[in-house]
Amino acid sequence: MQENKYAQVRLISKPKDLLKTIYTACRTCYSSDSPLNIYDCEAAQDKEKMLKLINRVISSGHYSTIEHIQVSFAISNISRACSHQLVRHRHMSFSQKSQRYVKEKGQFEYITPDTIENIPELKEKFDSFMNKISDFYIELTQAGIPAEDARAVLPNATSTSMVASLNLRELIHLANLRLCTRAQKEIRILVKRMCDEIIKEEEWLKDYLVPKCERFGYCDEDKSCGRKPVKE
Ligand SMILES: Cc1cc2nc3c(=O)[nH]c(=O)nc-3n(C[C@H](O)[C@H](O)[C@H](O)COP(=O)(O)OP(=O)(O)OC[C@H]3O[C@@H](n4cnc5c(N)ncnc54)[C@H](O)[C@@H]3O)c2cc1C
Repeated sequence: MQENKYAQVRLISKPKDLLKTIYTACRTCYSSDSPLNIYDCEAAQDKEKMLKLINRVISSGHYSTIEHIQVSFAISNISRACSHQLVRHRHMSFSQKSQRYVKEKGQFEYITPDTIENIPELKEKFDSFMNKISDFYIELTQAGIPAEDARAVLPNATSTSMVASLNLRELIHLANLRLCTRAQKEIRILVKRMCDEIIKEEEWLKDYLVPKCERFGYCDEDKSCGRKPVKE
């Protein structure tokens, strides 16, 4: 597998007091104390204590408590096909490289799926097809066609980059759906890299940033990969 060629991902922003914020949100729901006092209290210094409560609250489906945490990722080297799948997630925010304002000057960058890359004759034809598209794109722009119209010939494979932000609830939802083997490999790798980035800093999240079958104990897909029993 040549997975390194797929998404490059870096976590670029995460709240400093992530656990403390979630803990304060959780305890505010069940305490007569004010959120400010809870935030300043001793328990809000004790990581284990905070995690115990947070895990209990998340496990019982009280998800608003993790919506307070917003994280941002710098993402590059993904295909437009992949970015189109990502932007279907409606609680995410995106700033994506524009094909209107950024004109391709030479051969545009593109992502070759492994299945094509692994067959040399097809890979060669694929590259030559991309070259032809590039030549025509350049012909169009040199003829005065604006980039926003010339891009009509660019394929799903065209490489793109973006900054994507989302809250922790949506990140867990994204992971549950897109780490599933039913999701396409490219977005699976992208989301796995997003999860790995945050788990490096917040290890406790590893139990939530998993395919949905791992969280729920069963598979609800029509075609199951067999990892977990199919839902009756
Ligand atoms: C394996 C796979 C195959 C797919 N195939 C296709 C396909 O063939 N064609 C296609 O069009 N899409 C396809 N999709 C995309 C899919 O239909 C969803 O659009 C995408 O996964 C976003 O999921 P979501 O709506 O649950 O999540 P989000 O948009 O991230 O929203 C999160 C949650 O918020 C709630 N929510 C958000 N908006 C609303 C709303 N308007 N009303 C009520 N509740 C809301 C829902 O509970 C939702 O689950 C596929 C996705 C996967 C993972």
